[in-house]
Amino acid sequence: MVAYAADPYLPYGSKTGTINVKNYSDKYNDQWISIIDNGISAWNNSRANVAISTKLFSNNSIEAARYDATWYGLTTQTYNTSTGYTSKFVVQVNAKTISADASDFANFAKSTVTHEFGHVFWLVDNPSTAQSSIMKYSRNRNIMTTPQTFDINNVNAKYGG
Ligand SMILES: [Zn+2]
Repeated sequence: MVAYAADPYLPYGSKTGTINVKNYSDKYNDQWISIIDNGISAWNNSRANVAISTKLFSNNSIEAARYDATWYGLTTQTYNTSTGYTSKFVVQVNAKTISADASDFANFAKSTVTHEFGHVFWLVDNPSTAQSSIMKYSRNRNIMTTPQTFDINNVNAKYGG
């Protein structure tokens, strides 16, 4: 196992890679449902030792809306300050900024969803690495939609796998 400096990790994240999010299938249109499904599958189908499922009742949620903000996505985690373990997270995805900047809306939004779940798995924004990363601001969101080797290795260093 590679030892990492603090750089790839936030001070908080999910205790395990097995997480759930409140079912969103009745909240959005088919396009958004498939975008969120695809962002979740990007992690579940990767080598990362994680499993994201949906549940009828969950503290955790994912929201897509037109927010009057500059971000594409935002994840807010409620966590224990001594352990760093997250007890609740809310992922917000901004249809307003994404539709303004995307050439491929579905990919761009999926890239955002995948990135935001990276935060739940402790990954920081914009890691200082030469390797490609779903967490980098400079990634092409129209093309890169899945966690990269760097991201997966960091998650697995946290959770084993
Ligand atoms: Zn971020």
